[in-house]
Amino acid sequence: MTVAPTCSLRESLGAGFSVTVADPALDKTPNDPRASAIVAAAQRLFQAIGVWDAVAGEAQPILDMVVTDSRLTDAVRPVFLTFDGDAEPGQPFAHMVENGPLHAALLARARETGVVLRPAGIAEFAPASIGSAEGQDLMVGLAGGERLRARLLVAADGARSGIRDRAGIATRGWNYGQSAIVTTVAHERDHGGRAEEHFLPAGPFAILPLKHCRSSIVWTEHAAEAERILALPARDFHAELERRFGLHLGEIEVVGPRRAYPIGLWIARAFIGPRLALIGDAAHVIHPIAGQGLNMGLKDVAALAETIVDAARLGLDPGAAAVLERYQRWRRFDTMAMGVATDGLNRLFSNRSDVLRFSRDVGLGLVDRLPGLKQLFIREAAGLVGEVPKLLKGEAL
Ligand SMILES: Cc1cc2nc3c(=O)[nH]c(=O)nc-3n(C[C@H](O)[C@H](O)[C@H](O)COP(=O)(O)OP(=O)(O)OC[C@H]3O[C@@H](n4cnc5c(N)ncnc54)[C@H](O)[C@@H]3O)c2cc1C
Repeated sequence: MTVAPTCSLRESLGAGFSVTVADPALDKTPNDPRASAIVAAAQRLFQAIGVWDAVAGEAQPILDMVVTDSRLTDAVRPVFLTFDGDAEPGQPFAHMVENGPLHAALLARARETGVVLRPAGIAEFAPASIGSAEGQDLMVGLAGGERLRARLLVAADGARSGIRDRAGIATRGWNYGQSAIVTTVAHERDHGGRAEEHFLPAGPFAILPLKHCRSSIVWTEHAAEAERILALPARDFHAELERRFGLHLGEIEVVGPRRAYPIGLWIARAFIGPRLALIGDAAHVIHPIAGQGLNMGLKDVAALAETIVDAARLGLDPGAAAVLERYQRWRRFDTMAMGVATDGLNRLFSNRSDVLRFSRDVGLGLVDRLPGLKQLFIREAAGLVGEVPKLLKGEAL
């Protein structure tokens, strides 16, 4: 994701600007076993920056979705909510895209557009003291010793952002004591583009459709239980998986690596600092219950790129405090709202209370019977509601 903002910046800013991505992972083979639900707005961003065509062939549209709420031992899982149809005519509300190929496509596009790529981490940064007026530039030091002068540093270095820590920006939030086990399965019968979210007492168990009769699994458990399951021999792991997956798609086979990701809600107290902007998980980490983390990061990307390009066109300094303030105002409220929504969903569903189960099932049943409300939820989840940045509308900057 680090690379996503740079393609559009490189193309829109013109020759007077240089855009560099420094990431130690750039020269490593990606080994992320996850796939992401890329919502309609994020798909438009990838179209606008010329990346979508490279992944479209393997992108699986989500054509409908079912939500169930039951105990693991229940023989039947009643369906409480179904979503089908498009976010807008002809536009599925999301596509499932595997992270590895998406990352490769972004990198290839960055190379094509002339972004400078450095396979090294950012080790330090400080206001440049030589050859520039006070506070006008940053001196950025890369691991390995190279030093770069920059008007703006964008921290996209993930949940444990060293850049954020070095800038003294604290985060607020908590761990849920849950982990998400991720793997890929192949099955006998086709899923027909259906995504399933089964709310089980330990947390959601999601079956997300991929091309070629495969699905990506995001399976939430209490952290210790996730560790136990992850360490099981293949046959026992398969048995645990099948208890949750069921047999509705025929026999299943695990065809990808298994990995667990700890889950938390963490939001940075500020999204900006002097000549610094935070984007993606460096700014916010949310529960994957709604598959929105990367999509939120892409919204940061679109808002920041638009802010920078608008400033540069007016002859303003793209790293100036007033310019960065615009980005922060644009993104912070939306981020808090999504953080609260995913936190509430997780608390409501990840528990064993029968009283809560009854009330949430009544709520889900009501939403299911109100097509207007359902359509609003779909458009919201697809990122098409609110103050949508140009790139997420598929427009050039
Ligand atoms: C189980 C699971 C399922 C998910 N499913 C979805 C989904 O369906 N849809 C969705 O929208 N979101 C989803 N998410 C969330 C999504 O995966 C994250 O929000 C997204 O990967 C964050 O991307 P990022 O680039 O900000 O951070 P990361 O992916 O963590 O990347 C950080 C990058 O920074 C680099 N880096 C580290 N240190 C430095 C340094 N010092 N200098 C330079 N570079 C550095 C790293 O090498 C890495 O490349 C899911 C998350 C989980 C855990």
